[in-house]
Amino acid sequence: MSFLTSDNDQEKNFRKGDTKRCPYCAEYLKKEAIVCKHGGKSLGPGD
Ligand SMILES: [Zn+2]
Repeated sequence: MSFLTSDNDQEKNFRKGDTKRCPYCAEYLKKEAIVCKHGGKSLGPGD
């Protein structure tokens, strides 16, 4: 069942505050990310 692990880790990081959620594709990203690695959308510098 290791294919489930990465999702769980992402959610754990999200709760820890190290990640944010992309408003375009709803994937978890590092909070420092300025470009979505999934959709390539620009997220702007921080919140
Ligand atoms: Zn995205």
